[in-house]
Amino acid sequence: MTIPPGSTIGIVGGGQLGRMLALAASQLGYRCHVYAPDADSIAAQVASAFTQSAFDDEGALTRFAAEVDVVTYEFENIPTRPLAAVAELVPLQPPLAALETAQDRLEEKSFVQRHGGRPAPFARVDDSAGLDSALATIGVPAILKTRRFGYDGKGQVRIEAPDEAAAAWRDVRGAPCVVEELVRFDAEFSILLCRGGDGAIVTWDAPRNRHEGGILVSSSLPAGTEFAGAIAAGEALARRVADALDHVGVLAMEFFAVGGAAIFNEMAPRVHNSGHWTIEGALTSQFENHIRAICGLPLGATGRTAPRVEMANLVGAEADGWAEILADPAAHLHLYGKAEARPGRKMGHVTRLLP
Ligand code: AMP
Repeated sequence: MTIPPGSTIGIVGGGQLGRMLALAASQLGYRCHVYAPDADSIAAQVASAFTQSAFDDEGALTRFAAEVDVVTYEFENIPTRPLAAVAELVPLQPPLAALETAQDRLEEKSFVQRHGGRPAPFARVDDSAGLDSALATIGVPAILKTRRFGYDGKGQVRIEAPDEAAAAWRDVRGAPCVVEELVRFDAEFSILLCRGGDGAIVTWDAPRNRHEGGILVSSSLPAGTEFAGAIAAGEALARRVADALDHVGVLAMEFFAVGGAAIFNEMAPRVHNSGHWTIEGALTSQFENHIRAICGLPLGATGRTAPRVEMANLVGAEADGWAEILADPAAHLHLYGKAEARPGRKMGHVTRLLP
């Protein structure tokens, strides 16, 4: 089904990903209606309509769905039940199955394993005794992660020694968890693909990602020939996962490269921070191809526009350096319009195209 330019795209979630989706959609002649719980949504700043309501307000969500031609989401931590009601009224892309899988780290790892992927050794943890016995198998150092509602390193505790287990369990406040081995990786990379409703898949070059404190610091391309084997394995897995979910839109999968192996970390059924470089660094950005996919338009070419591309997040006060960044002719500055620069908050990013 084609949803032609001039139609209205509903975006659930009101952050920077929604903002950049709305900007890409407007370039193609679409209108966007943002649905988010907070009054000061930065996506709504660039959209033509805004509904401020809670993610679990099924009535408000169905009224929103009645006003748009297709619904997508930019945030995973939303209850799926009200979205199922939305999907009965209007196309919802990516499909609910993709969101349900990615919302729960245990589901996600098991799903990926069934499709031939290899996560770090992990175990389900539901109580303190379960954590002790899981650690006896997995060993330390390990990471305890809440199964749901984690992002940017939130909901994660490192365990360096078995006697830290009780404190770690207190930190997660008894939430259902997985514990996993701390991977001694050579590098981190992500696979970004976009799948159309007809099953066509495009992929972008895989960026090498650096995280600090669980937050993405930078994405660099090319990732380096030494990771070619791991990247090829990651891409093959991402294609299988996208097909299995009948995914439509962008799918991002994060990996650790260990030698030639790709150890799966997590996936997101949406546009992703490690794909921001594609706005200037690729012929078609992840945001535009996501819009094209969910509207049934042909997908755009994904080749790189420069030999090297560097994307750096501007976190907290780093965004105050905007004047200096603008003075660099290689730099493309993006500021998200957030009112307050709290520490650890993503305020913008800068992409540099380099020879
Ligand atoms: P996540 O929220 O699971 O993507 O974790 C955020 C970041 O924490 C990752 O990108 C890694 O840098 C680090 N991290 C998470 N899990 C592991 C692990 N099992 N081994 C090593 N580093 C990890």
